[in-house]
Amino acid sequence: MYQKELETAIKAVTQAADLCVNVRTDMVNPDAMEKGDRSPVTIADFGAQAIICKILSEAFPDDVIVGEEDTTALQKPGNAATLIKIIDYIQQFYPDATEDAICEWIDRGTGSVAERYWTVDPIDGTKGFLRNDQYAIALALVENGEVKVGALACPALSFDLDEPDSPKGVLFTAVRGEGSREALLHSNDFTPIHVVSERNPDKLRFLESVEAGHANHALNQAIARAVGIVQPSLRMDSQAKYGALARGDATLYLRLPSEKTPNYAENIWDHAAGSIIAEEAGGKVSDMYGRPLDFSTDRKMRNNRGVIVSNGSLHQAVLNAIAEKVAV
Ligand code: AMP
Ligand code: MG
Repeated sequence: MYQKELETAIKAVTQAADLCVNVRTDMVNPDAMEKGDRSPVTIADFGAQAIICKILSEAFPDDVIVGEEDTTALQKPGNAATLIKIIDYIQQFYPDATEDAICEWIDRGTGSVAERYWTVDPIDGTKGFLRNDQYAIALALVENGEVKVGALACPALSFDLDEPDSPKGVLFTAVRGEGSREALLHSNDFTPIHVVSERNPDKLRFLESVEAGHANHALNQAIARAVGIVQPSLRMDSQAKYGALARGDATLYLRLPSEKTPNYAENIWDHAAGSIIAEEAGGKVSDMYGRPLDFSTDRKMRNNRGVIVSNGSLHQAVLNAIAEKVAV
């Protein structure tokens, strides 16, 4: 099932990841960038969305795409230089691509949640991208509110986290009912992945955001302790956390809302691809109250608060610990 969807998604995120790597490589000395200069991430973000929407639209012309970006800001006169750079990077893949075509590709991603739609985060973890840490290109197909296919490219992730010389660049995929797989980017050599038992003491650790503004680190730690996790957290940007949990690098991923934004509603593109990869690897995904993630409401997941991802067997204990420690 979903063979063409999966192949198209793999092609789209792989090529988008190549564009992001090209931009990242050209940022030779990120320290030399002016503080707060987000232009490289902007270029990679729009460039990756353009490529993904182009590839999706050719394969599935009638499908709706809900992406993070649109060209409104890009079309402002002050951003002309950024647009020129985006065109440059895209022309490395499509030499004949015109400015108009590229803007049209990007704006193909301005659809609304429908019965069947794709959702794309061209660069998830923009702060990680700028810091030369983790980031991901995330693409998922959702039908009737359920994620059916997910593809997640993590260009900076080690194939084996415990091996210092391990090659970098991992592609995770999942199809509903058919399991999750990983491959070194471009290798096309996929192997099935599985979550790990919490009885494996090396992996009894939890993942969380690097950014304190995206999750409550203190509460995350208290919950982890309550379920017997004593190792320090593994901090990682982007949905790479879902992939890491799915392949057994950790048993838990905690995303309890930051104190500064207790009512933050998560974006569908920040969780759709990652969640199916964790679930199809045997994991469990819910919000902090145990509710399934709802991808049918809007671009924002208004029916959910926080995100909890576990190896499955640890899940109920985590929800119990949250219910005890957090006033509802
Ligand atoms: P991560 O790298 O896991 O910290 O997640 C990155 C994502 O966090 C970005 O794509 C943002 O959409 C999202 N984000 C932004 N603000 C918040 C917030 N206050 N709470 C949770 N997530 C956020
Ligand atoms: Mg994101």
